[in-house]
Amino acid sequence: MNIDLEIYSPVHQIKNKLFNEQGLSIFIKRDDLIHPLISGNKWRKLKYILKKASAENKTHLVTFGGAYSNHLLATAAAAAKFGLKSTGIVRGEDVTNDTLFLCNLHGMKLIFVDRESYRHKEELFNKYFGGNTDAFFIDEGGASAEGAHGCAELVDELTETYNHIFCACGTGTTAAGIINGIQNHKLSTEFNAIPVFKNGDFMKGEINQYLINPATYNLYTDYHFGGYAKTNAELLSFIKTFVADTGILIEPVYTGKMLYAIYDMAAKGHFKSGSKILAIHTGGLIGLLGMKDKFQL
Ligand SMILES: *Cc1c(COP(=O)(O)O)cnc(C)c1O
Repeated sequence: MNIDLEIYSPVHQIKNKLFNEQGLSIFIKRDDLIHPLISGNKWRKLKYILKKASAENKTHLVTFGGAYSNHLLATAAAAAKFGLKSTGIVRGEDVTNDTLFLCNLHGMKLIFVDRESYRHKEELFNKYFGGNTDAFFIDEGGASAEGAHGCAELVDELTETYNHIFCACGTGTTAAGIINGIQNHKLSTEFNAIPVFKNGDFMKGEINQYLINPATYNLYTDYHFGGYAKTNAELLSFIKTFVADTGILIEPVYTGKMLYAIYDMAAKGHFKSGSKILAIHTGGLIGLLGMKDKFQL
């Protein structure tokens, strides 16, 4: 099986009065355009995971996520594309929503488990697939060294150098991969991680476990807006203005928070005049459909 997907992820500049006044050039790498469902960092993370599965002749992907997980959907779509079976073990009660509908449509079987059982992923895998030699375990969010390996390739694609790269963090795998990529290329680029959880300091440990060499980077833990998937009127209004002004669709769980951070820091004079800043659009736009009601449009 040939596990490959052509990467289309151009870099676009975002121009506005604020950045102009501060002497900043802001760019966004459009990983959201890689694939509508195997979107952004999810394809990068799955690439070497799927190559490993293929090398071990595994034909059934088994993975984990919440009911709105972009990773579950990416895995379902990738399995369908590459002729594999897939099962998603979903945290919480049996529900349906746009994300799970699309998982189903791509042939993913869903198993709902209570929150306590969900914490023991290896046990769940053994319970349902212990005797199944076709089954391949993929951790929640694609968190893995293989995932970080794929994300490092993002840096190989850059044709310019930037003073800063910003990325939103869930498991920290994407951040770690980009930091490894910055080191591979011996760039002086500063990496900036925006955890989307409350009390995001633990993200350092998550990121560091996938670093090839120790590295310094910035972690800004004040842009969580109350916690994972939490929003407020200010964030939603920022997103609405951003989308309407740029034509670039973003969602509130990840990229919205990360871009808000850049705008906020720029407004507060955090960046030196003349800085070039690259934001990574990690995709995940189907998640927006689960949050329609929050936007009062
Ligand atoms: C999954 C996801 C992330 C988080 O990536 P990690 O590698 O888990 O840190 C960021 N942005 C979007 C849109 C995602 O779907």
